[in-house]
Amino acid sequence: MAFEKVSTILKMVDEADTAALAFDCVDYNTVYPVIRAAEQLKKPVIVMLYPEHQYLNQLTSLGTFAGMVKELAEKAKVPVGLHLDHCSDYEYILQAIKAGFTSVMIDGSMLPFEENITITSKVTETAHALGVDVEAELGHVGIAARGDGEVKDLYTQPHAAAEFCARTGADSIAVAIGSAHGVYMTEPKLDLKRLEEINEAVKVPLVLHGGSGIPNEQMAQAFRKGINKLNVGTEYFQLYHDTICDYTKKEGAGGSLFDIGTYTQKALYEYLLKKMQLCQFECK
Ligand SMILES: [Zn+2]
Repeated sequence: MAFEKVSTILKMVDEADTAALAFDCVDYNTVYPVIRAAEQLKKPVIVMLYPEHQYLNQLTSLGTFAGMVKELAEKAKVPVGLHLDHCSDYEYILQAIKAGFTSVMIDGSMLPFEENITITSKVTETAHALGVDVEAELGHVGIAARGDGEVKDLYTQPHAAAEFCARTGADSIAVAIGSAHGVYMTEPKLDLKRLEEINEAVKVPLVLHGGSGIPNEQMAQAFRKGINKLNVGTEYFQLYHDTICDYTKKEGAGGSLFDIGTYTQKALYEYLLKKMQLCQFECK
């Protein structure tokens, strides 16, 4: 148990035809409830950091975040993975690896096919030499508010996925099958037939991004058809934000700054206990 490689967690859940949930986090208030809820439910879990939240919003540093997750994970009774979410900067990925991240995503999905292969291969070569896992993206998971999830031209092509995996050595790939990042304008409809075809064409675990707002039944089907990692960010951060607003409204100026942590962690923990039920794997 404890601090575990993401590839090991994905292998574990793949054998049970399900997916591990991966949550974007920014600080102790968001990381701690993820690990506590995973322990309560006996499920493996993955904690992720989205680079922009570090270098733009300055909510943490790579080393601080990695150190915090590692320390909490080592004491946890379930496997906890640490992953760098969407990054297209090779140098930044190197910094993350040096800081202790044991899994990284290289997102070349906006690049032409050959260029995506070149940058992904460069990252896998370095990362694998250092024992670090690599998630790549083929097709493009866009922005929900733009309606990108419905743009079939952005979807992953099964034959291209097979070639991409063979040439890059990526450990997992994020696929575009109808999900998108952010808040959906209309209910998303996953292309499950395409997912099956991709899953037949490649051997590596598949990752579904945009896990805030996809109906549970569709997600359960996607897990059975090859998705082994579900990324969740939007709804988790929205809840964090709303809970802080709720606290300040309720307590007003008389509220204690020092109670905000436990107040928000409790709300996030309760949400996580429900969301994590999607993962059907249970640790012995
Ligand atoms: Zn994503």
